[in-house]
Amino acid sequence: MKHVVTFAVAIMALQSFEKPLPKPHIDPHDSKIFQPEAFDYTPRFFIHATGYCSCPVCCGKWAKYQRTASGTIPEAGVTIAADKNIFPFKTCLDIPKIGERIVEDTGSAIRMFRIDVFFSDHQTAVVFGFQRDLLVRFCDEEIL
Ligand SMILES: [Zn+2]
Repeated sequence: MKHVVTFAVAIMALQSFEKPLPKPHIDPHDSKIFQPEAFDYTPRFFIHATGYCSCPVCCGKWAKYQRTASGTIPEAGVTIAADKNIFPFKTCLDIPKIGERIVEDTGSAIRMFRIDVFFSDHQTAVVFGFQRDLLVRFCDEEIL
């Protein structure tokens, strides 16, 4: 009997460890959740941002085209690169300290909630550096 009780206590202890807290399931490939109208609140995302320009250091083999992945001519003050599974081309994002930018480009390292901000020269892009945890939202969304 003593063994049975010990066993029961052990099982209960194990179960309490095995039950993780329920987490909200967010599928980044579910296109529905990235449409602003699908929300009844203002969606915001924490992103990490880096800077880039059109030079070979930043763009490697793609630099010779001088075009974004969506075919536009990249423009400082307008163009950003993002993961288009999350932020499709032409998505307008309002980025704190940076302003409103349009997703026109992609990048091999730009996955999930990483954003690359386009600058006209390499030095400015380097000075921009790596900025963590910027709380972005879609443009023309009212802050609730
Ligand atoms: Zn560069």
